This record gives sequence, C-alpha cells and structure tokens, in this order.
Amino acid sequence: MNSSSNFPRVWFITGASRGIGARIAAAALGRGDAVVATARDAATVTQRLGAQSGLLAVDLDVTDEAQAGHAVAAALAHFGRIDILVNNAGYGLMGAVEESSADEVRRLYETNVFGLLHVTRAVLPQMREHRRGHVINISSLGGYQSVAGFGVYCSTKFAVEGITEALHAELAPLGIHATTVEPGYFRTEFLEGQSLATSPRVLADYAATSGRIRELASQISLNQPGDPERLAQAVLRLVDADTPPLRLPLGTDTLAAIAAKHVFVETETAAWRELAASTDFPKAHAS
Ligand code: NAP
Repeated sequence: MNSSSNFPRVWFITGASRGIGARIAAAALGRGDAVVATARDAATVTQRLGAQSGLLAVDLDVTDEAQAGHAVAAALAHFGRIDILVNNAGYGLMGAVEESSADEVRRLYETNVFGLLHVTRAVLPQMREHRRGHVINISSLGGYQSVAGFGVYCSTKFAVEGITEALHAELAPLGIHATTVEPGYFRTEFLEGQSLATSPRVLADYAATSGRIRELASQISLNQPGDPERLAQAVLRLVDADTPPLRLPLGTDTLAAIAAKHVFVETETAAWRELAASTDFPKAHAS
C-alpha cells in the first residue's frame, strides 16, 4: 500500500481519460492529492496524465457493476481510503424524445444513471465507515432545465439531481457531503462524434425544435464558453469548503438558465395556483 498519509486527499474519478474528468484529475494531482483516475481503458489515463506517484490508473467502464467493485477495491488496496468520489463519466444523446430509440435511451441510462449508482454503491461503505467523504456528481445545466433536442440526455441528468438531493439528506448525518455540479457548455469533446450519440431517426415535424439543435451543435462544439481548466479549479474550491453546497452551477449560461427557469416556474405556478390548491380533501369544520 502507498501510505495514504502522504496525500492530503484521495480522489476517485470516473471518465478521467479526457475532458472534464482528466482536468479535475490533473488539478488534484497538481496540488499534491492522490487520484484514482478510472477510464474504460486505463492506458488512456496514463497517456494523458503521465505516470506519477499519486496517480493510480484503473480500468472502469461504469456500466459494469462488478468492475466498479474491483476498481474501488484496487483504490483502497493502493491508497487505503477514498475521500472524494467524482462521478463524471457520461455522454450526450441528441435527438427529439420521439426520435430516440429504446436502445439509445437504455444505453444512455446505463452510463449516466445506472453507472453512477454502481460506482456510488461501491464507494459509500468505506466513506460511511470513516464517517467522512464527499460525493460529487457531475450533472449539467440540462439537469435543471431540459431543452428540445436533448430531452433524454437531460432526463438522465434530472435523475442525477434527484439521486444527489436524496444522497445529500441521507449522508449528511453520517458526515459525508453530496454535491451535484451543473456545468453549462464547456469546451471539451462532449459535442464531438466520439462522445455525442445522435439519433439517426429524423422526423420532419421536429425540424424547428430538435432539428435546429442538431444544426447548432456543430457550431457550438469546441466554441463553448466554459473553460474546463477553470471548472477543475472550481471543483478544488468546492472540496475545500466546510459546508459545500448541494448544487454548484458553473458558467454564466447555467446561471442565466436557472434564473429564467425560476421566473417561468413562479409565473406558471401563480397562474394555476387556484386549481393547484383545489385538490385537497375539504378541511373538517370545528363544531
Ligand atoms: P468528454 O470529453 O466526451 O469525456 C467524457 C468522458 O466520459 C470520457 O472520459 C469517456 O471515456 C467517459 N465515458 C463515457 N462513457 C463511459 C463509460 N461507460 N464508462 C467510463 N467512462 C465513460 O465529455 P466531458 O465534457 O468531459 O463530460 C464529462 C461529464 O460532464 C459528463 O457526465 C457530461 O454529461 C458532463 N457535462 C459536460 C458538459 C460540457 O459542456 N462539456 C456540460 C454539462 C455536463 P472514453 O475516453 O473511454 O470515451
């Protein structure tokens, strides 16, 4: 075992081969923490980050529950503990809800939702044992506000938000933090062909909604406003907080979308309040 006391913190990061996961891994290593950087092919992690004493690269396809258990066991055998879990592995699916096939939807949930749950269940026992830790789930702006053309993807991130909100309540009494990070558009390969799945079924009726997003995606890709290096630095500040938030939106696009959604929800709820309040059993009158 590599003495864990050499390292202020031990991170376990999924999808660390590239993009946001690789940036967070590099930032954590850069300040002297240990990182278990997992990827479908661990060699891609070492190619990206180089061999370092604080780095353990481990194979993990998050859709494989048994492999999640093996990866966590390898991490504990090497560093003795995991302080921070970053559930980052994920990808997008572009297409209108109706255009997305059952197989495409199932595959997306296998990674973005069931994969996150596999890894979380594998890591939590030792965090509970030590009564400390921080689970960071990478959600999205789309986990707060869904959009045409990305409905199924957004639904996986809404699931991540729901899971994290419950984890936050369940784990706080055990001394463990849970945070959902909501990036806006960040400049990674997320919208490129090797990451983004695109439903081949195109229905003309959705040309003005989902179809418009299909056209825009290639223009947005690699021009996104968010800087993944700055995102990684923000995650370092997040784990340093004494009282980390349940939600951490990142990017001015996310902040604008949240503000717009709040106005929309408040306005719509006010317009329909009378009907909404009409469905309780009548209150019994005191005699
Ligand atoms: P990316 O550059 O495409 O990287 C995605 C990472 O996830 C890669 O390391 C990929 O590994 C890994 N991955 C995919 N499926 C996996 C699986 N089954 N098992 C293990 N690893 C898997 O995208 P990114 O922007 O860094 O995205 C990272 C996370 O941020 C995702 O959860 C995404 O939904 C979220 N996000 C991104 C943005 C954005 O604008 N970039 C915005 C909001 C949220 P391989 O190298 O093996 O393919």
